[in-house]
Amino acid sequence: MAAAWVRLCALVLIGASSAGALAKDKTPTAIVVGGGLAGLTAAYELQAKGWQVTLLEAKSGMGGRSGLATSEWIGNNKAQPVLNQYLDRFKLETLPAPEFVRTPGYLIDGEYFSAADLATKQPATAEAIKRYEKTLDDLARSIDDPLNPAANSTLFALDQINVSTWLDKLQLPATARQLVNQQIRTRYDEPSRLSLLYFAQQSRVYRGVGDRDLRAARLPGGSPVLAQAFVKQLKTIKTSSPVTAIVQDKDGVTVKVGAVGYQADYLVLAVPLRALAKIQMTPGLDNQHLAALKGTNYGWRDQLLLKFKNPVWESRARMSGEIFSNAGLGMLWIEPALKGGANVVINLSGDNARLLQAFGDKQMVDQVLIRLHAFYPQARGAFTGYEVKRYSTDAGTGGAYLAYGPGQISKYWRLWERPVQRVAFAGEHTDALYPGTLEGALRSGQRAAGQIEDLAAGKSFDPVVKAAPVAAAAAGAAAVGAAAGKDKPGFFSRLFGGDDKPVAKAEPVAKVDEPTPAPPAPAPAAAPAAPVAKEEPVKAAPAKAAPAKHVPAHKPPAKQASKPEPVKKAAAKAEPVKKKPSADTQAKAN
Ligand SMILES: Cc1cc2nc3c(=O)[nH]c(=O)nc-3n(C[C@H](O)[C@H](O)[C@H](O)COP(=O)(O)OP(=O)(O)OC[C@H]3O[C@@H](n4cnc5c(N)ncnc54)[C@H](O)[C@@H]3O)c2cc1C
Repeated sequence: MAAAWVRLCALVLIGASSAGALAKDKTPTAIVVGGGLAGLTAAYELQAKGWQVTLLEAKSGMGGRSGLATSEWIGNNKAQPVLNQYLDRFKLETLPAPEFVRTPGYLIDGEYFSAADLATKQPATAEAIKRYEKTLDDLARSIDDPLNPAANSTLFALDQINVSTWLDKLQLPATARQLVNQQIRTRYDEPSRLSLLYFAQQSRVYRGVGDRDLRAARLPGGSPVLAQAFVKQLKTIKTSSPVTAIVQDKDGVTVKVGAVGYQADYLVLAVPLRALAKIQMTPGLDNQHLAALKGTNYGWRDQLLLKFKNPVWESRARMSGEIFSNAGLGMLWIEPALKGGANVVINLSGDNARLLQAFGDKQMVDQVLIRLHAFYPQARGAFTGYEVKRYSTDAGTGGAYLAYGPGQISKYWRLWERPVQRVAFAGEHTDALYPGTLEGALRSGQRAAGQIEDLAAGKSFDPVVKAAPVAAAAAGAAAVGAAAGKDKPGFFSRLFGGDDKPVAKAEPVAKVDEPTPAPPAPAPAAAPAAPVAKEEPVKAAPAKAAPAKHVPAHKPPAKQASKPEPVKKAAAKAEPVKKKPSADTQAKAN
């Protein structure tokens, strides 16, 4: 067995991985695990600096969590600077977004309102939304540095509160609350599952960035096009290579894909937390990391793409951009399909989407079509198929994107920004400013590549900035009390708006009885409010519905290593990659 192991190692060496590997005449080697945009960026940046890089991706295609939209809206330089830099570098063309998608819209009981319409036709709702936005902005302004959001005890206390509790205190009228809930669950997760500090921190990051900046352009082909551009640049990519174990020692890292081992000097681990939890690490991660793997909240957002031969809605219909409905329906938009036709993308988010897991893909699509036909009878003949992506039940993702729950910033803030010995972490979840976005994924890949270079140059990493050391993490009621202004004059008004004392507003209903989410109904666009079809058992027509796919939209051919191939036929049973290094070794490696 020992002999087999030695032979295996000899054959799979990607580069010499001894201490001498970093001598001047040796090309330094790195393995990147995960072929989403974070891993692709890290691999690209390291390769550009002269590293020999091997990228291992579990799936058969590259690009990771690319959404279903074939023609994604993207932000401008102000909103997504790094994304725009790469688009420029790879000469990927974008188209300016039409004016009407650059501001949000609202669907209230099936009727469409622009922001301007809302102000004139539903002034109470518009006013309440404004009040909510103002209060949130005041809260965001309390954070001086979004990289250190829990800078004082008051801010730290916000991490112990969930967003729903805060919204309750605002006493918004029912419709406004429903719309706000929908906006939050679409962008992050269910308000009750979100840390108020995280919500405020994100609002701080995007302060001064308007909706117009966020949807400034359209990227034809969506983020898969950007992923492809990276893939073209990389020399060694191995798809269908799920990493199962990682061993670090003082000389380098060994990565196992089943029975096959790869070695290199350093590693970038660019997989989502739930996927990382399944990889066996030697030496093991410490308790804080292990707790974060298990406990960090991910938002829930699934997507349904309905394809039509032609737009079945009126040409004047404005069902596009970010549209929030009070019917428990996720954000939806309509986009021109790349090769003619038209698509409707429906985002199902938060607890609505969690409940909908009981529905099969086809069942969900049928229910949506029933409702669409009620508004647009011509939809029946134009439907050509669908795709469904359920990120949260995908073992490789375990959720749509990071969305810190109450108490989690206090425990895990910037934890994954710090390398562990020879491993740097990347992925949207490791970016402190733009988690949950393409921008965050790209930035994290750049940061991880830089850290690998620093490690190779002998730099060691200081502990991350800790959340403010508040007296015994005042949780629960105590925290709410502190946040409510007991330790900082004027803070209550920033937290809940209005006076410094909580006063029951004259406004009606704070209690929101949101409609049951199931099943989702794409509401009509500018069409007059016709009643939504009841849950009739009618089978939605088209027999042509394509089976839901769960593959990335594109599948570039995997490039093969020019260096010695790993032995695929290594011992049938996985052998231990290497002896567990001693604690002493670990300390030195760090
Ligand atoms: C529905 C939805 C809509 C979105 N909309 C937008 C938007 O409009 N704008 C925006 O900016 N962002 C959006 N995002 C967020 C954006 O898509 C993500 O932040 C980004 O794609 C994450 O990239 P990543 O590289 O961090 O992770 P991923 O793309 O998840 O990449 C991780 C990769 O690791 C691989 N992997 C996992 N385990 C292993 C293993 N053991 N071995 C090898 N490989 C492994 C996975 O297969 C995957 O390819 C959206 C996300 C979702 C889910």
